[in-house]
This record gives sequence, C-alpha cells and structure tokens, in this order.
Amino acid sequence: MLDYPFLVTPDTKVRLADYDPGYSGEYTHRREVRDERKANVERLSELQNLLHAEGRHALLIVLQAMDAGGKDGTIRCVMGGFNPQGVHVTSFKVPTRRESAHDFLWRIHRNTPGRGEVAIFNRSHYEDVLVVRVHGLVPESVWRARYDHINAFEKELADSGVTIRKFFLHISKAEQKRRFEKRLSNPSKNWKFARGDLRERERWEDYMAAFEDVLSLCSTDYAPWYMVPADKKWYRNLVISRILLETLESLDMHYPPGEPDLDKVVIPD
Ligand code: ADP
Repeated sequence: MLDYPFLVTPDTKVRLADYDPGYSGEYTHRREVRDERKANVERLSELQNLLHAEGRHALLIVLQAMDAGGKDGTIRCVMGGFNPQGVHVTSFKVPTRRESAHDFLWRIHRNTPGRGEVAIFNRSHYEDVLVVRVHGLVPESVWRARYDHINAFEKELADSGVTIRKFFLHISKAEQKRRFEKRLSNPSKNWKFARGDLRERERWEDYMAAFEDVLSLCSTDYAPWYMVPADKKWYRNLVISRILLETLESLDMHYPPGEPDLDKVVIPD
C-alpha cells in the first residue's frame, strides 16, 4: 500500500488497489482530530462568507463515490457551516427526458457557481463516464470522447474564475457492505437503501476501472482531483476540510471597503 498524496498528479496512472480506503495517516481515533476539524469547519464558514461578500471568486466542489461512499455526510459535516445564502447543492440523478435531449454538460453548466457563490455537486458530469460507461448506456466512442470534453469544459470554467476542487471518496467494498447493512437495520436510514444499489455493487471492479480512468485522465492543474480515504468518516472530513481551507485561504480575499467616513456616521434615535 502507498501513502496517499491526496492530490492526483496530472497525467499519472492511478491504481486504486494501491491505496487503503481505511488509511488515517498518523491518527488512530476520531478524538485526536475533533478539535482541528471543528476549527476548520468554522474557519471555512468565515471564508465562505468572505467569498460571498467580496463577490470576486466562485468555488465548485465536486463529490463522487460509490453508493454509501459518504457524499451526503461530507456535505453535512464539512460544508454544513456554510451560509445557505451563496451556496447551492445540486444532486445529479438519472437525466430527465429534457436533460437527455441535450449534450451531457448542459444540465451541469447551468448549475455552476457565479461570482461570490459556492456550488457543490453531489455526483456530477463524471457520471457520464462512470455509470454510463459501466452500463454501456452509450457507445464506447461516445463516452471515450468525454474525457477531453470534460477537461475542455473545466478549463473554460477555470479561465472564467471558477476554482474547482474534485473529491473521490475511496471506500472499500467491505465498508460499503457495513453501511448498506446499517441502512437496512435502522428505520431512519431505510429510505437511503435501494435494491438497485446492489446491482451497482456487483459491478464494483468495473466501477473501480472507470474511476481510475477519471482520476488518471481528468486531474489537471486547473481542476485537480483529490483521492480521499473514506472508510473512516472522521478522517475523510479532516482531509477534505484541510484541502478546502487551503484552497480558500490561497484566494487572498478581502472584505470590500465600507463607504468613506463611516466613523462620523451617527444613527439617529
Ligand atoms: P444518490 O445515490 O446520489 O443519493 P440516487 O439514489 O437518486 O441518489 O441515485 C442517483 C442515480 O442517478 C445514481 O444511480 C446515478 O448513477 C444516476 N445518475 C446520475 N447521473 C447519471 C447520468 N448522467 N446517467 C445515468 N445515470 C445517472
């Protein structure tokens, strides 16, 4: 097993089997990271507020994983402190008839963030080279061409001022089984279980191959992929909070100045 670089270096071939989904770095217990994670989440919400106030940058966060991989939990635990004003979460489902009548990026583009906004994609345009590829929903020549289409699309977004961060949550097949079993045994989680998820689980190896191509072909300087070990939710949250924090801190944002002479303003009774 290799140590995680997290950031997938552009133009390198990723082999997922080389990376342990149960990896948690130098930590063995959630309590060791609780304070840092909490502080990171608080700082992230301050920075999101700043991004909103400054109105200069846009941030796009893409989350992809196998079923029960922790996309929802990541949004809740890492991004839950964001101010709902200025944040938009889109969960991409099987395309509607209207969506299918367009090119695959049509429904994606209209949900990208404007200046001052954060957009979170729970699934994304990458489904069009994942589930679509695994199930052969379009001919190979069509999905193969999409890696280039995606890179060009993301380049255009980045050139327009959108900062893009993409996270692949890497869970093991055994951990997915445990999470599915919890969904079955806990009535408040029953709604999250669909028998169809088992059909996807049968195709685990095909999905891993499809994810490997996504990570190998579509991690770029302007829209990098991060591979995050995700069997331990607390470590996953720590890693993602650190990466987002680093990203937002690096934008060098400032609150807009107030009107001149505000110190002389007296609010009348
Ligand atoms: P989630 O699992 O994300 O909580 P759902 O259970 O509704 O939500 O699953 C959404 C489904 O939509 C997934 O099975 C996913 O593979 C599928 N899907 C998303 N995008 C596409 C697409 N472009 N083509 C086909 N299926 C898609």
